[in-house]
Amino acid sequence: MRWRKWIGGLAVAAGAMALLVALLPFAFAELTMVAARLETNIMPAPANPAQFRPLPGRAAGAVVDGHWRVEQIAPGTWAIGEPAADPDNYEYLLVGTRRALLIDSGATRAHDISRAIAGLTKLPVTVIPSHLHHDHTNGLGFFRDIALIDLPETRARAQGKEVRLGRYQFARPDPVDFTVTQWIRPGETIDLGDRSVTILSTPGHTTNSISVWEPAGKRLYTGDFLYPTTLYAFVPDSSLSTYVTTIDRLLAMLPPDTRLYGAHCCRNDAPPQAPWLSTVDLEDTRTAIKRIQSGDLEGRGFIIRRFPVNSQMTLLTLYPLANR
Ligand SMILES: [Zn+2]
Repeated sequence: MRWRKWIGGLAVAAGAMALLVALLPFAFAELTMVAARLETNIMPAPANPAQFRPLPGRAAGAVVDGHWRVEQIAPGTWAIGEPAADPDNYEYLLVGTRRALLIDSGATRAHDISRAIAGLTKLPVTVIPSHLHHDHTNGLGFFRDIALIDLPETRARAQGKEVRLGRYQFARPDPVDFTVTQWIRPGETIDLGDRSVTILSTPGHTTNSISVWEPAGKRLYTGDFLYPTTLYAFVPDSSLSTYVTTIDRLLAMLPPDTRLYGAHCCRNDAPPQAPWLSTVDLEDTRTAIKRIQSGDLEGRGFIIRRFPVNSQMTLLTLYPLANR
């Protein structure tokens, strides 16, 4: 029967299409990895490249060990930049009276961030990755005390305490393995001695992304969830709808004058310094994503698409079919 053949053919085509769409984020993760190896950028160029250049002038902070740019941003609080890493990573060190917390471990295994920290505190240091991408976890091997957000997916990665990073979690071949010494529940408060911070689950860039909230200083350390320049919302487990849910939660709880410190540099209205944003930038990101979802924000690029957010940010995401 001819019509049966037609229906069969259509079903196969629909199935193949669904499979293709489901695999697109992984295909493009592979493509970006190959492109990174070839030092080729497959992302659409920004409409205005000057938007991502810091103002000329002396960078804030002091260079330590020829690699780290160490800048005090508040009492007992340091931003540790890596201008040589691409794109310019920032880690944060929070020192209490009894212990210190390091947010992210460094972008490269070639430089040991604990040597830069040794000049700032002698207290025991716990490191917590903001998420599991390579440029946040590469330095974990330099630490003994490693905390990790306690989610079903991170627990599932741990065999006993040993965590094995998947290819797409790490976003590069050759992931590091590490041993977790502390599991931190979402919303759990860590006491550093006369100073406490709360670990928030803030999915969007990845499902296991965290932000560290310090109410006393009105500072939120956002990792790759939010920072000036270009947000990556196209990796396999990033999600636009999750971004919106998380932003709504943050806007409901944060004082309006909170400073948000991200994991990549730089602002375009100052010489290089710790990359900070405000709750208005959170609102702008929400507005931009809602407009991307409704199709009335114009982007550039074909599969990986770049959308404007505001004067400090753009956002990269995928072709609409592969967005969630
Ligand atoms: Zn990331």
